[in-house]
Amino acid sequence: MFLMSGIDTPEQAGTVATSILAAIMRPIVLARHEVMVTPSIGIAIYPSDGEDFETLFKNADLAMYFAKRQGPGTFSFFKSSMNANALKRLTMEGKLSGAIAGNELSLRFQPQFALDTGLIVGMEALLRWTNLELGQVPPLDFIPVAEETGMILPIGEWVLRAACVQAKAWHDEGLSNLRIAVNVSGLQLAQRSFPGLVAAVLRDTGLPANTLELEITESVIMANEDWTKQVLGELKAIGVQISIDDFGTGYSSLGRLRDFPIDRLKIDGSFIRRVQNNGEDRVIAATIIAMAKTLKLEVVAEGVEDLAQLLFLQEEYCTLVQGYFLSPPLTAAESGQLLRRLARDFEGTRTERLRRVHG
Ligand code: C2E
Ligand code: MG
Ligand code: MG
Repeated sequence: MFLMSGIDTPEQAGTVATSILAAIMRPIVLARHEVMVTPSIGIAIYPSDGEDFETLFKNADLAMYFAKRQGPGTFSFFKSSMNANALKRLTMEGKLSGAIAGNELSLRFQPQFALDTGLIVGMEALLRWTNLELGQVPPLDFIPVAEETGMILPIGEWVLRAACVQAKAWHDEGLSNLRIAVNVSGLQLAQRSFPGLVAAVLRDTGLPANTLELEITESVIMANEDWTKQVLGELKAIGVQISIDDFGTGYSSLGRLRDFPIDRLKIDGSFIRRVQNNGEDRVIAATIIAMAKTLKLEVVAEGVEDLAQLLFLQEEYCTLVQGYFLSPPLTAAESGQLLRRLARDFEGTRTERLRRVHG
C-alpha cells in the first residue's frame, strides 16, 4: 500500500501509478527463466472517496479489482459509479480465489430415487461456498463468476475429487452400487485434458468408473456439437456415465441427442412444477419422458416438490426422481444416515420405502 500525501490533483496519483507499474513489470530472470510480475493498482482519493482509512482502503481495493479485470499492468481510480452489483461481483471474485485454500467449499448430496423400487440409486453432488464475510453464497451467484474467471477449473477438480472420495467411502461401507453425479461446466469440458483428469481422479480414489456420472447441461452439449461428441466419446471410453442436465431449457430436439453417447436425461424442474396445470404442460413432460425412453435413455425428473408431481411421474413411467419432496440436498453425514436407514428397510414395499424417506 502506498500513501501519497500532498498531491494537488488526482492525475498526479495516476502518474505515480504508471511509474510503479513500469518499474515492477520489468522482466526478471529466475532460475534461468524470464518471468514478469503483472501488478494491478487501485487508487482512492481523500476525502472524496472516503474520510477514514477503512473506507479509503476498501475503495482502493475495489478499484484494484476493476483494474485487474481490465488486464494486467493497469490502474484504476475508484468511482462511485462502481455500482453495488459490480462491487458484489468483484468482491466475490477476490474472495473466491481463496476459497479452496481456505477450506470454504463443501458438498451437499441430493438423493435420486428409482421410481420402480423406491430405493436411492444415485446422489448428485452440489457445491456450497461459505465465506466468513459473504456468508453462504448460492451456486447460481458464484458459479457464473467462477466460469468467467476460469476459477471453475480448480474448483471443478476439487468437486470431482471430493465427490469421488465420498462415493468410494459409501461403497466401502457396503452401498456398492451407489452412483455419484457431478456437475461439469462448459469450460471444464472444453479442456483437452478433461478426460485425462477424470481418469486420474478415478484411479486416485479407486472409484469404479461406471458409478461416476457427469452432468452436462443441454446448452453446453449443443454449443459445439462436434467437440462435445468427441469429448463425450473419450469419457464413455473411460467408462463413466453421462447425463444431460436441465433438459428442456435449451430448445434442442430430442432427435439430435441421438448422436451423442448419453445415458440419462434430467428434465428441468420448471417442467415438473408445471404439470399440475394440466393441459399442455402435462403433455410436454409426458412426451419428453416417452421420447427419451424410445431413445433408450433413462429419465430423471428434477425438482419434484409434491405428491401430485410424483404420482404423475409414476404414471408416465419416469425412471428416477429427485427433489425436495423426497429429500433436499444433505450433508455427507446426513446422506450416510439416510442411505443406511433405507438399506435396512429394504424389506418393505416400494410405497413404504418412499413414505419412510420422510422420516
Ligand atoms: P442443477 O445441477 O440443475 O441442480 C439442481 C438444483 O435444484 C440444486 O440447486 C438443488 O438444490 C435444487 N433443487 C433440488 N430439489 C429441488 C426442488 O424440489 N425444488 C427446487 N426449486 N429446487 C430444487 P443448487 O444446489 O443451488 O445448484 C444450482 C445449480 O448450480 C445447479 O443446478 C448446477 O447447475 C450448479 N452447480 C451446483 N454445484 C455445481 C458444481 O459442483 N459444478 C458446477 N459446474 N455447477 C454446479
Ligand atoms: Mg445437476
Ligand atoms: Mg438441473
